[in-house]
Order: sequence, then structure tokens, then C-alpha cells
Amino acid sequence: MNIRNISICGSGVLGTQIAFQTAFSGFDVIVYDVKQELIEKAKMKFKHLGELYKMDLKSSDNDIAEAIARISYSTDLADASKNADVVIEAIPEKIEVKKSFYALLGEVAPPKTIFCTNSSTLLPSMFAQETRRPGRFLALHFANQIWKNNTAEIMGHSGTDPEVFDTIVKFAKNIGMIALPLFKEHPGYILNSLQIPLLLAGMNLYSSGVADPHTIDKTWMIASKSPMGPFATLDLIGFETVYNIAMNAAEAGDEQMRIGATLLKNEYIDKGKLGISTGEGFYRYPNPEYERPEFVKS
Ligand code: NAD
Repeated sequence: MNIRNISICGSGVLGTQIAFQTAFSGFDVIVYDVKQELIEKAKMKFKHLGELYKMDLKSSDNDIAEAIARISYSTDLADASKNADVVIEAIPEKIEVKKSFYALLGEVAPPKTIFCTNSSTLLPSMFAQETRRPGRFLALHFANQIWKNNTAEIMGHSGTDPEVFDTIVKFAKNIGMIALPLFKEHPGYILNSLQIPLLLAGMNLYSSGVADPHTIDKTWMIASKSPMGPFATLDLIGFETVYNIAMNAAEAGDEQMRIGATLLKNEYIDKGKLGISTGEGFYRYPNPEYERPEFVKS
């Protein structure tokens, strides 16, 4: 199957990164979100991403301008999917939100369109029925800051067509990712199976009063030789997604997670501190404390 037109649904932290990287790799991209004001915000994020590409990848002004010119926008899902070879969904990590999204998308998108979810923790089999095309549905999971952390985990559910799976492996490579195919469905893929327990353990230590976020990060950084600890990673992910993941765990019976999620909401989200995207989370940006050499020396 020839893949040309990509529709990115959700223009938040990851949606804008996926859209920009895909357009930067030469594909035509349409970005869909629910309100025009969010589309206007996405345009600003693309300008900012252009600056990061210049800094981190030494990209030229011309390459960035061409990438931005390949992106169009819509607040209408039928319009955003009508020419799509692939839809990549990057909307909130909430089961009911994704279910209604797929029910509508399954109705309006053409039969040829492959649907990919970028969900961090939910499984494609949870939404396969809603899509009305289970064979053409799978997960394509990116890591935050995809232009430099370029993993793409590809994970089907039991009904995913193997040819569709291979098409997405090839597509992931064509947009500059290291394609990492998984043999079977598994919550959290490889990356989040490793990472989320660490992040949640950090939140539990903090919310139960054992230590403060900077001390927890410092401990992890010094002892494991990691460039960042769990709280710096939470800032990078963004607190709305973190909150949704913690609440999903709370609803599955983890009461300490509810305490952590509530603390995050009261002390940070409700005060407009959402992590790097708002300039403040557990650290202040730019130049967060953990990046300074003295952080792990004192
Ligand atoms: P976000 O909150 O930054 O953005 C979500 C966007 O989706 C918002 O712009 C919102 O307006 C939009 N949206 C809400 N409902 C919608 C709907 N019905 N249709 C279309 N758009 C809708 O979230 P995010 O951090 O970008 O995460 C999005 C998805 O990507 C989640 O499933 C998350 O688990 C996954 N993910 C996130 C990260 C990360 O580090 N943030 C990494 C990998 C995967």
C-alpha cells in the first residue's frame, strides 16, 4: 500500500511532535483537534518545534518551512480523515474518550485507512470493535521528543492483519524512527513496561512523604548514571497525561495512585503547572536544575 497522506488526531504534546516529524519526512499531514483555538496553539507549537529541530538536528530554515507548509488543519473528523492512508490518534489517555473517538472515526474514514493509536498504556484490543476495521488497527507508539528519542513501538492486537503491521513498520522507518515490532499485545509495550513502574514509584515516594522530588531524582541519577530522574521525566511527559495514567491505575484499585494523582492536580495542574510545556512542573524551564552539574554533586 502506498502511504502518502497522514492524519494526526489530537494536537497536544505528542500529536504535534508526530505531525511535525511526519511532515518533516516528506509526508502530507493534516492535524485534527476539537476546537479552532487548539489548532492555533498547534501552529505555535510547530514554530517552536522548528527551533528545536534547528538546535538539535541542525535542520535548515528551508527544511522547516517546507515541513510546516506540508501541514494542513481541520476541526472536522470526516474532513481530516477523508484522504488519509493512515490516521495516528494522539488524544487523551481516557478509555471513554478514545472509544467515542474510534466509533466516530470508524464511521467517517474511508475503508482503506489504517488506524494507529499512540496510547501509552491502553491496548488496541480495547478499541478494535469500535474502529469497525479491527484488521486495519494497531498501536504505533512514539516516545516524547521523537526527533531525538526516535523509538517507534509497533504492536498489533490478535486481529491485526500482518500486512497492515508490516506497512506500519515500513512507515515508521520512513519517518526516521527505529521501528521496534512487538510479537504480541502487552500493556505499556516495552518502554512503558520499564518506565511507568519507575515513575509511579517516584510519585508514591513523594505522595507518601518519604522524600521530595529533587532528592528522589538525584538518587536515581547518581546511582544509575541516568541523565534524568522520574520527576524530570514526568515534566517531559506532561501532567495531564500523567494524571490520566495515575487515575486509570487508581480506578483499577491502586489507592496510593489516587493520592499521587490528587496531589498532582491540586499542587500543579490547577495552578497551571503542567511540566515543560508550561515552563514549570517539578522544575523550572528552560535550564532546569537537574541539568546543572552541581545538581548531582551537592
Ligand atoms: P495532550 O493532553 O497533550 O493532548 C491531547 C490532545 O487531544 C489535546 O490537544 C486535546 O484537545 C485533543 N483531544 C481531546 N479529545 C479529542 C478528540 N475527541 N478528538 C481529537 N482530539 C482530541 O496529550 P498527549 O500527552 O499528547 O498524549 C496523547 C496520547 O499520546 C495519549 O494516549 C498518551 O498516552 C500518548 N503518549 C503520550 C506521551 C507523552 O510523553 N506525553 C508519550 C507517548 C504516548
